Amino acid sequence: MKNLAFYNGKITEIEQGTIPINDRACYFGDGVYDATYTRHGFPFAIGEHVDRFVANAHSVGIEMQFDKAYLCGLLVELCARVDGEDNFVYWQVSRGSGIREHCLDKKAPSNLLIMIYPKALTTFDKRYALCLYQDIRYYLCNVKTLNLLPNVLASQFAKEYGCDECILHRQGMVTEGAHSNISYIKNNLLISPPNNELILRGIAREHLFAVARQLDLEVVQREFYIGEILDADEIIVTSSGTLCASAQSVDRLAVGGKQPETIRKLQRLLLDEFEDMTSGRKMF
Ligand code: PLP
Repeated sequence: MKNLAFYNGKITEIEQGTIPINDRACYFGDGVYDATYTRHGFPFAIGEHVDRFVANAHSVGIEMQFDKAYLCGLLVELCARVDGEDNFVYWQVSRGSGIREHCLDKKAPSNLLIMIYPKALTTFDKRYALCLYQDIRYYLCNVKTLNLLPNVLASQFAKEYGCDECILHRQGMVTEGAHSNISYIKNNLLISPPNNELILRGIAREHLFAVARQLDLEVVQREFYIGEILDADEIIVTSSGTLCASAQSVDRLAVGGKQPETIRKLQRLLLDEFEDMTSGRKMF
């Protein structure tokens, strides 16, 4: 298939897929999601993504009618059905379906939606143009909920400003990107925000931490402010689709570019791991 949509067991191409109007995802965004990329028809770090997804669903009280092993198996099987080398894999669960009331009278079965379509990782030669944007989200940023309106507004702002991604900040304290994590290198330190309710604990960032340690960078998780990153050796953007990109500018001001060799080494290690994990040599 050129792409694939799955909704509660029904498989179609995305263009033919439909969902019921009373799925709580439609009017409340009452659900959580996760996403990764495939190469060679196999999804990257699928165990980690499904673990986070299940933990996120539990954290907002969504009960699913299946377990991690079933979901991993299903995603792997569906990925293999889609043509092409490089695909994006997205899945979400909503609390169920029913007439629009904030509280459910009785529990409804959750709804599982999966989409797989062609999309490749960002290439490593791309250096990001970033812009500053106030973080106006509420305090559940550590959960991948479907409610992404502030992230969408931030991304649209970045695009219209000619940038690739935002640096979200709360009164100058950097949190993350609109759809990525932001870290920076200064000397031999890799500095990144702490794990709390203000950021998503990105899986690509966890992988960055691991390879950084292999290169003897010390990983420090602490709060930091805009002024610090403007003076960084390198600002790094990470997400499942952008394993490790360095930034070239913030609000059109040149930044980073002082440790290109470190960036190249990090990218090489991350790509090797991505190839390994998507070739079936090392699956989880
Ligand atoms: N932060 C936000 C707000 C995101 O939307 C994403 C990815 O979608 C990330 C961080 C990076 O997460 P991951 O590395 O797991 O893709």
